[in-house]
Amino acid sequence: MTVLEVIQRSAEFLTRKEVETPRLQVELLLAHLLRLPRMGLYLNFERQLTAPELDQLREWVRRRGEREPLQHIIGSTSFCGLEMAVSREVLVPRPETELLAELGWKFLLQQAGVTPMALDFGTGSGCLAILLAAKCPAASVEAVDISPEALAIAQGNADRHGVAGRVRFRESDGFAALEREARFDLIISNPPYIPSEEIATLDPEVRDHDPRRALDGGADGLEFYRRLAGEAAAFLRPGGRLMCEFGDGQAPAVAELLRTQMWIVETVLSDYSGCERILVAYRGPENGATAAP
Ligand code: GLN
Repeated sequence: MTVLEVIQRSAEFLTRKEVETPRLQVELLLAHLLRLPRMGLYLNFERQLTAPELDQLREWVRRRGEREPLQHIIGSTSFCGLEMAVSREVLVPRPETELLAELGWKFLLQQAGVTPMALDFGTGSGCLAILLAAKCPAASVEAVDISPEALAIAQGNADRHGVAGRVRFRESDGFAALEREARFDLIISNPPYIPSEEIATLDPEVRDHDPRRALDGGADGLEFYRRLAGEAAAFLRPGGRLMCEFGDGQAPAVAELLRTQMWIVETVLSDYSGCERILVAYRGPENGATAAP
């Protein structure tokens, strides 16, 4: 069978399985198999696949048809242009989180003088911590997660991108395991934010394959923002920022939670599809004045 034939047949199969962007999915699997850039497939439409290649592709397409995420089949995803290993133990990094990473490293690059310090709260695959360290060579990053299995993946990703010397991964339930005197210029987080009952309604790729504890934000989805609002300020340097991602429609509730804990919401940014997704806040003085630090 040729490359073109296999793309067409597999795309039809994935269409029947209600997989979104079926042709793209097949092309990405095939490009990975043949170690070609995706566009390279178009120059090789007439190439015959060998029997082992065909067997491997069929197995992958079958799994994709069962709604296993492409990134789990391939074993990695790209985040801000860096390849991150992923598995069932970590949330697959999403494109909208790239915006958060960029906002974070740009802020760290502006910090003059002392070593910029950042904390990635709930690091998962390590994607945010690693990008901060990679883009800001002066920075030192702490990354916490409750899952030792996730931290093992994250550590591997940091090793692979040469930033392991400046990212310290630590098993911690929120801020619990941090030294009390630790202070950061930036606390960044893409916490679990799906209300518990909504998890059942998500796409199977997410519902059945992302770790539940990377998704579940408690009854109203806001549990981790409550923790951040209440506990993050004690770990921020003066002038430091809290930057976090949140779920659809959560902007007003997250902003309100922060304001009741003396935070000043500086910016709310939308993602590529126009949904409000990211918030930047800093801690106001206790008397409620609103002057910037
Ligand atoms: N920080 C990781 C990410 O942004 C993991 C987030 C999570 O598990 N909720 O992808």
